[in-house]
Amino acid sequence: MFHAKLYINGEWLDGASGEKQNRSNPANLYETIGEYTLATKEEAELAITAAKAASKAWRSLSGTSRGEVLFRAAQQLENEIADIANIVCREMGKPVGEAIAEVKRGVALLRYYAGEGMRALGETYPASDGKSLLYTNRVPLGVIGAITPWNFPVAIPIWKIAPALIYGNAVVWKPADPASITAFRLMQVLEKAGFPKGVINMVTGKGSIVGQTIISHPLVDGITFTGSNEVGKLVARAAVERGAKYQLEMGGKNPTIVAADADLEKASALTLSAAMRSAGQKCTATSRVIVEQSVLESFTALLLQKAKEIRLSDPLEPDCYLGPVVNENQQRSILAAIEQGVRDGARLLIGGKAPEGSLSNGCFIEPTIFDRVHPRSELAQHEIFGPVLSIIPADDLEQALEIANDVEFGLSASIFTKDIDRMFTFLNRIEAGLIKINGETAGVEPHAPFGGMKRSSSHSREQGRAAIEFFTALQTISIST
Ligand code: NAD
Repeated sequence: MFHAKLYINGEWLDGASGEKQNRSNPANLYETIGEYTLATKEEAELAITAAKAASKAWRSLSGTSRGEVLFRAAQQLENEIADIANIVCREMGKPVGEAIAEVKRGVALLRYYAGEGMRALGETYPASDGKSLLYTNRVPLGVIGAITPWNFPVAIPIWKIAPALIYGNAVVWKPADPASITAFRLMQVLEKAGFPKGVINMVTGKGSIVGQTIISHPLVDGITFTGSNEVGKLVARAAVERGAKYQLEMGGKNPTIVAADADLEKASALTLSAAMRSAGQKCTATSRVIVEQSVLESFTALLLQKAKEIRLSDPLEPDCYLGPVVNENQQRSILAAIEQGVRDGARLLIGGKAPEGSLSNGCFIEPTIFDRVHPRSELAQHEIFGPVLSIIPADDLEQALEIANDVEFGLSASIFTKDIDRMFTFLNRIEAGLIKINGETAGVEPHAPFGGMKRSSSHSREQGRAAIEFFTALQTISIST
């Protein structure tokens, strides 16, 4: 049983209010895995002022020195991959294979950004008088508020915290409630790298208190947020009001198009994995598969055959493919979306309910596939964030593209086709930030930019070199004699 504390100014604090919240294992709600601290507004403020104070010395270190600390953090995390993955499984139900892959991604991100400290950050320009030095320089913003979701409880915090730190900022991190124990364990590991006190702070608690304090505090210079559109709007409003920089990564309703000439075996296998892995709780999960009429029947048969082979199991089982969803609230909201889909006339092909028997103590949902889904129905328009896939027929690629783009989101999209003309038509028309040809809708490698279009994202990209845009300010300098 973990007793997760706050990490403020290099110290572990119990929380002044004494208010704690229990976390249960979503695979078995009778198992309490720990309790975490609900911070007060004052504690969030304390973390912000500590970060502000620490940022002065941190920014004056060389990028190489900051990189050395991040390299050590990568090493510490690598030493504890199995332990951290275990808590990810037990807190949010992610299958162990995926949890290990996520922690490894965290290690890769830390190494990538540690290396960024050694790369040149600015550019030189020819000065028209021929004798001045004209160049750009990147400087840190100051204090970054990092507000993160529960579904990638290790990788997403690291892909915000690591670039913030390497470019010289101090961080106040607010993890999502359902990932608070993981956040505590991750912070314990990162601490071992030896960051100066106050450079990184971790404050768990209510979004309406801790999150709200971070987004509206005058000492927070930049807010990097990943989460729902609802909260994203609050973040944007608060940031604009006081002129702070902000970056939002939000929801998705990601389409995969299966063209008439697609390799149906591959398309059905990858579509299913993109829809069901992490129990569909990925912002990049495939939630709509749009299939050309001529292959609809054969594609659907293959998809169903594979879906029938999926076995729900405890996420700690080494070969777990589909575990529980994160908690009872999420389970309820997914089941409600399924019921609405049935009411709206979609045909339920498989799943649609929580399993009975030994798994009924957990938040499991059977892999669920609908067909005959109307492109404008709620099932096809709203993010469900669960193991639910909608098959939507299309007469041809033209109509498939119209359906694919006819949602408010634009995060990830893919097409299965062997035809080069179809590929380019898709590439020219699809409204998404992360595009795959003959691959599943998904994120990208840690060194490549990540982000979406439309209501999925706002402002500059995360990951890779692109992250520098958000986490620094650009100065243009001219030196003359
Ligand atoms: P959420 O919006 O409920 O919470 C996100 C974070 O915001 C949490 O830390 C929460 O405590 C905090 N928060 C809540 N109220 C706040 C307030 N008033 N002020 C400031 N902060 C507040 O999202 P979630 O349920 O944790 O995550 C699921 C959502 O995240 C889905 O919509 C998913 O698509 C999205 N997501 C997007 C990406 C992406 O990169 N586009 C990646 C992962 C998840």
